[in-house]
Amino acid sequence: MAREKATEYVILGNSAAGIAAADQIRKADRTGWITIVSDEKTFGYSRVMLPLYIAGKVAKTEMVIAPEEFYASRAIRLIWGETATGLDPSARRVTLASGKTLSYDRLLVATGASAKRLEANGKELPGLFFLRKLEDAEGIRKILSSCSTPAVIIGGGLVGVKSLEALLHLGRQVHLVISSDRILSQMLDKAASDLFLAAMRDRGVHVHFHSDVKAFQGKETLQAAVLADGTILPCCLAIIGKGVAPNVEFLRGTGIRLNQGIVVDDRMATNIPAVWAAGDVAEPLDALQGKNAPSALWPSAVEGGRVAGANMAGVSSVFGGALRMNSVELLGVRVVSAGAWEGDQVLASRRNGGAVYRKLVFARGGLAGYVLAGDIRCAGMLTSLVRNRTEVSAQALAEGLDRGFSYQPRLHMLGGRIETLESQRRES
Ligand SMILES: Cc1cc2nc3c(=O)[nH]c(=O)nc-3n(C[C@H](O)[C@H](O)[C@H](O)COP(=O)(O)OP(=O)(O)OC[C@H]3O[C@@H](n4cnc5c(N)ncnc54)[C@H](O)[C@@H]3O)c2cc1C
Repeated sequence: MAREKATEYVILGNSAAGIAAADQIRKADRTGWITIVSDEKTFGYSRVMLPLYIAGKVAKTEMVIAPEEFYASRAIRLIWGETATGLDPSARRVTLASGKTLSYDRLLVATGASAKRLEANGKELPGLFFLRKLEDAEGIRKILSSCSTPAVIIGGGLVGVKSLEALLHLGRQVHLVISSDRILSQMLDKAASDLFLAAMRDRGVHVHFHSDVKAFQGKETLQAAVLADGTILPCCLAIIGKGVAPNVEFLRGTGIRLNQGIVVDDRMATNIPAVWAAGDVAEPLDALQGKNAPSALWPSAVEGGRVAGANMAGVSSVFGGALRMNSVELLGVRVVSAGAWEGDQVLASRRNGGAVYRKLVFARGGLAGYVLAGDIRCAGMLTSLVRNRTEVSAQALAEGLDRGFSYQPRLHMLGGRIETLESQRRES
């Protein structure tokens, strides 16, 4: 009797989503061939830790999430330093920049996202960086070792504020240039952002709100950034963090359904047979918005990769829906936010002379989102209320939080989620 041919799995991208998928595939299929293609020449590492590496707080080895042994023990072939440049879905074949081709039975696109470019005169000067890859962090470290003028950070998102913290840790002077009126506009409202603002100003950061860089000046090296209002900021380093765009260019014309990223269903399958997508390149269903949208967060990439990997290997798995959630500690202020910004009812409060801020957003009879800044106890419990769409009375929840949930009868008003609350209390 002829033996069944082992399945050929090809994964494009060797990061959060691709690695999680490969791991999941191997758990379900012990004989299939798994190949990961990566344009970076590294084992899998945490992009989230790049600012810590710049700050000198972690070594390169500590950022590795999938060491050589990860691939060897799972019989995963890693082809690195190769870029996928084309896809022929009818032939089930991927083309690489070297001209080689790879045939697949099942393909995962996990190519992530790239930093959005900045249109400004002088943008090609050495000293300008996007922080997305290890090589970017290496470049920033090199410049820092040879220059002493201030640095300019453009953009107040995760990349911007984490870079800011790294540079402050190194004792550098920093200008932060933000086009909106707040930092971390994807996760904070203005009030929570203001808590950080005070901490930043205490540390001597020059924050330029409602501002953008229109040009860079210099000859061999970067010497200044010029703001739209004409202000000149002398600098030898600029880090640009103006958001990301999914890496989908090589898929145009293949018939794959694209929005900004690749549209996927709740199994992370694309509209093309035998092709899945996960991570920053994919647009799964956003649980709260009720529509497909990119998430650009590490935990969603891992979760999406796991779901895709299971389905690719024939084990049915459904993506729970990306929940917009993040936690950051910046200059000693901790903040967590999750879920929706707007709802039927919003309860906001401040304590400790403004050092602690809390906002709860309610919709459709439950907690739809929250922001905790300065005191993040109860974040786990609040996230599970949002995720599970638990019915909850706004007043009861707010009062319960004020009392640290010591007022037992109130717990029954939280839809019976007492174990969650109890474990949260133990956590805090
Ligand atoms: C500085 C920084 C800080 C961050 N902080 C946080 C945080 O605090 N919390 C959080 O949740 N998220 C954070 N993120 C975002 C998080 O890192 C991403 O959501 C996550 O890395 C997405 O994983 P991914 O597997 O989808 O793709 P990526 O990590 O982007 O990896 C994709 C890989 O595919 C490669 N690739 C691209 N195109 C091709 C191709 N054509 N052929 C072959 N290979 C290709 C890329 O080079 C890359 O190696 C941060 C990101 C950065 C850069």
